[in-house]
Amino acid sequence: MEPGFYSRRQFLQQLSVNAGITIIGMEGISMFSTLEMAEAAEPAGIIESAPQALAAEVPRKLGIALVGLGQYAGGQLAPALKETEACYLAGIVTGSPNKARQWKRQYNIPDGNIYNYDNFDSIKDNPDIDIVYVVLPNALHAEYVVRAAKAGKHVICEKPMAITVEECDRMIAACKEAGKMLSIGYRLHFEPHNLQMKQLGQNKVYGEIKKIKAYNGMGDAQGWRLDKKLAGGGPLMDVGIYCVQGVRYTSGREPIAVTAKEGPKTDPVKFASVEQSLTWQMEFADGMIAECRTSYSEEMNLLRAEAERGWFELSPAYPYSGIRGKTSDGPMKLPQVNQQARQMDDFAIAVRSDRPTPVPGEMGRQDVKILQAIYKAMETGQRVEI
Ligand code: NAD
Repeated sequence: MEPGFYSRRQFLQQLSVNAGITIIGMEGISMFSTLEMAEAAEPAGIIESAPQALAAEVPRKLGIALVGLGQYAGGQLAPALKETEACYLAGIVTGSPNKARQWKRQYNIPDGNIYNYDNFDSIKDNPDIDIVYVVLPNALHAEYVVRAAKAGKHVICEKPMAITVEECDRMIAACKEAGKMLSIGYRLHFEPHNLQMKQLGQNKVYGEIKKIKAYNGMGDAQGWRLDKKLAGGGPLMDVGIYCVQGVRYTSGREPIAVTAKEGPKTDPVKFASVEQSLTWQMEFADGMIAECRTSYSEEMNLLRAEAERGWFELSPAYPYSGIRGKTSDGPMKLPQVNQQARQMDDFAIAVRSDRPTPVPGEMGRQDVKILQAIYKAMETGQRVEI
């Protein structure tokens, strides 16, 4: 082939190599799965000059606006958006003029793409913003997702999706009505070790799962996380939700009932409005049991499945990096990835190619439904059916 000429396939291969992309076959989730499928459908032998190939094959990166510039947006999402291939940080929504100035400088954001909570709805007139990513305290998710949908934007909403199922319904309806996609910030669906748990469990590699243990706790919660009105609850809403998720994707099954018990409050002032810790059990129709724990005063991080012919586990299971896995056959040898970059790229590609997201609003709604049942079981001491 003449120098300066690329086939589409070569171009895509080069793009993947440059980006250091690892394709995870088991899930079918990879940043370039859609592009590659489109590529596979191309007739062989099409040769274009490099600039033409670029124009044809590299669609515009979608612009993301982050709403709420707190720890997660600043510490994880904005840095991840420097590594994404299909989307970039195009705008911000903040109530703090100081933060606006700082982010504008740090991320080179034009004045026209900086909003506050009052003028946020005018984002509808901004063609740079394709996706709004809501990273606010839990109780504010519903309002901003609905406003983003009404502004004609696709939406990513952080977990937990909302604090009630009714709110989730409104969010899903608003996005449907606007014809926009809604996904939840479930980064672990793009993380190789957690995907491996899903693959081992759902494909019954070690036979039927009999029991899952899922623990997630951290010791340093403060601010709105301790205020039931803004958080919807305590560690269950914040980190216990990962246990519910882990059990659901490892087993591929839905709980039919829950029982729960609140732990003692060693600091009743700090934990005046939310639980300090909680243990709960989820029952499944086939007899499988999930034993779960969450806490704001104890560090815990485990997802372990015990099956007929072996076991598999992640410890730690849920952090941004350093996840480690093993099975009854030995250690998992899987790469660490930038979970948030993969998650946002996958959504951008889903939007661009009009395919469903693997982490839709309906998944977030089901988790909120289960969380509400767990709180009801905790408060009443009764077994609560879901
Ligand atoms: P944070 O407190 O650091 O940031 C919250 C932001 O919301 C701040 O910038 C704050 O100024 C703004 N805000 C606007 N209105 C507010 C109000 N009325 N009260 C308080 N803050 C207000 O919180 P965070 O840790 O960034 O969490 C934000 C969201 O992201 C939560 O829903 C949380 O569950 C989620 N989160 C997800 C992950 C993950 O791994 N997916 C990790 C951390 C947080």
